Amino acid sequence: MKRAAPKRLLWKRMAVIGVGLIGGSLALALRRRGLVGEVVGVGRSAGNLALARRRGIVDRTTTDPAEGVCDADLVVLAVPVGALAEVGKAIALTLMPGAVVTDVGSTKGSVLRDLDPVIPPHAFLVAAHPIAGTEDSGAGAATATLFEGSRCILTPAARTDPRALAKVRRMWRAVGARVMEMDAEAHDRILGAVSHLPHVVAYALVNAVTSFRGDALEYAGGGFRDFTRIAASHPVMWRDIALANRESVLAGIDATMAELSRMRDWIDRQDGRALEEAFLRARITRRSLRPAKAGARRKR
Ligand code: NAP
Repeated sequence: MKRAAPKRLLWKRMAVIGVGLIGGSLALALRRRGLVGEVVGVGRSAGNLALARRRGIVDRTTTDPAEGVCDADLVVLAVPVGALAEVGKAIALTLMPGAVVTDVGSTKGSVLRDLDPVIPPHAFLVAAHPIAGTEDSGAGAATATLFEGSRCILTPAARTDPRALAKVRRMWRAVGARVMEMDAEAHDRILGAVSHLPHVVAYALVNAVTSFRGDALEYAGGGFRDFTRIAASHPVMWRDIALANRESVLAGIDATMAELSRMRDWIDRQDGRALEEAFLRARITRRSLRPAKAGARRKR
């Protein structure tokens, strides 16, 4: 892997806890640009860590988070959001003074609630959510270009260190993301609607079709496949997201059930006008959506 001159390094040593799609892609993107010196991969499974080494995502690996973050000036937590507090506790004692700790979790209120309290005062937490991804997971799915043209949302809190925030902003810009800031509550409301709810609905639809007419799946065409692609996503990751963003996801489920119930009623009463009007409204909205990012396959 090509390395840049030391003066261009943004981070001397980066520890990535969870070398999967997002953590692995960030490491690859920083390495490709020569912005990081050494990359230490931390995980639980020897197979995934070995793959990360073979693919040149990391220089060395460990299964011990406390050991992995020693001497790292950047620590990226890229595990499912339900594991953040436990991982935070495991690294608290060995974080070096001045280390920047950042996450990539899809929910942000839970980061402030669960992770912030366990990060010691000598390290700086910056919460972040890159809005990029696929339904694939693990080190094998990581790509250096994943964040190019995507958005990355930072959710600083009152205690967030401005210099650490600026450096994390610079890092995401450097890997091609458009960076914006918002508060964690607004983030969770918005992403709850456009990301977390659709995943729950996709999982539910696949299970509903399987249970009421499983034999039909053999004939599933483009519509079913497009609609349910995200139901192939990692179940543990999405379990954690749904539970961590409970309020927003519940509100979305209620709204979806109310809309389905109206549609059910119109179909039952053969009210074609009401049904067509609802389909037309949705069609206009859907057609007005701008692409998530140039050349993007998908967005989350
Ligand atoms: P992933 O590909 O499954 O990678 C997660 C990695 O974390 C795995 O390689 C796993 O490695 C490790 N891990 C899992 N559970 C752990 C635990 N309890 N303790 C320690 N390590 C654990 O997942 P991902 O898609 O990169 O997602 C990572 C984070 O990014 C999640 O918080 C997710 O919400 C967020 N995110 C995902 C997307 C997306 O589209 N996928 C987009 C934006 C943000 P080992 O098995 O070796 O431990």
